[in-house]
Amino acid sequence: MGLAAGPVGASSIASDTTQTPTVSPPLRLADFEPRSMLQVPETHLDRPRYPVIDAHTHLSWGARSEAGIFLSSERTFLSNPEELLPVMDRCGIRTMVNFTGGYGPGLADCIARYDRAHPGRFLTMTEPLYERFTDPNYPRLQAEAIEQAHRSGACALKILKTLGLYLREGITTGPLVKIDDPRFDPMWDTCGQLGMPVAIHVSDPIAFFAPIDRYNERYEELAHHPDWSFHGRDFPSHDQLLAARDRVIARHPRTRFILLHVGNFAENLAHVSATLDRFPNTTVDIAARIGELGRQPRAARAFFDRYQDRILFGTDATPHGYEFPQQLFNERLYQIYYRFLETDDEYFDYAPANVPPQGRWRIYGICLTDAILKKVYNANAARELGVTL
Ligand SMILES: [Zn+2]
Repeated sequence: MGLAAGPVGASSIASDTTQTPTVSPPLRLADFEPRSMLQVPETHLDRPRYPVIDAHTHLSWGARSEAGIFLSSERTFLSNPEELLPVMDRCGIRTMVNFTGGYGPGLADCIARYDRAHPGRFLTMTEPLYERFTDPNYPRLQAEAIEQAHRSGACALKILKTLGLYLREGITTGPLVKIDDPRFDPMWDTCGQLGMPVAIHVSDPIAFFAPIDRYNERYEELAHHPDWSFHGRDFPSHDQLLAARDRVIARHPRTRFILLHVGNFAENLAHVSATLDRFPNTTVDIAARIGELGRQPRAARAFFDRYQDRILFGTDATPHGYEFPQQLFNERLYQIYYRFLETDDEYFDYAPANVPPQGRWRIYGICLTDAILKKVYNANAARELGVTL
């Protein structure tokens, strides 16, 4: 038999008849791409049950930026309507809302290229004029810029995480400016007076505030994008950032705020629920957070049931955003969102990628009712953004 001495049992019989597979450890984490052996139904949805308003996309970007801050009005266009519209039609997307439209002539360019050229299919948001932040008249200039953007046709104001994490007293240098700095009060008030909502991104996933080490559940993502880490240095904590945001919301009850990325705390839906309960002038979107929602499907389903009038569909879709598979604008991205919202499928990828890009886990569908789907897909965004369906 050729067996070495050892206990006689099942394992030694097995090794008698088969070759023990050779494994050459260590396997690098980056090379590990396990395929699920689970055999469960898979639903393929090309189209949503109701037309979609994707209330969170990026179709243009600031042409010039430094230290995370756009410093000119000029825009770089990430796509054009001729490229986008066929995909939108195939995926049942009625309207895409471009968040990063800028201000001044760049904003006017965006609106001419998208909104005016294809009425009903595109909406554009304006952004703050940070390049003028050191001007003593900044609060007034900023309020006037909002009025001008409104006249140009911008549907809302978008705040990137620039505020709180990048903008400094000297714009790119000096201490960080706080989200609730009173110099922005005229901006928030003007939005309220004009009926323009504020779509606000504050902070980031909480793992981005933790050390990039073996315990960090988003280790691979942070290893790819170390500049996304806000651990240490002079950054405020996640809690401090959200608290500053909440003081702004409390001070401006007549301004409506869309709290992006599930209120920037999808890891803690109880906290997001408390925020929505406390501030009637708020809604949330789900952009780039189905990875979080879908790994807690029972809590997510209860959240959608309870806040069905205050949740907007959004993806963070970015044409040619190959660096971020969870945001790459294409059919596969939308199919995943529809599957998550409409089916009870089990354990599937939240992004079209070989390795889940935001953390190594999979998600479960939450099978929303028709009535809730309709609100989330279009009615809530239409109401907030003034779209006639
Ligand atoms: Zn975004």
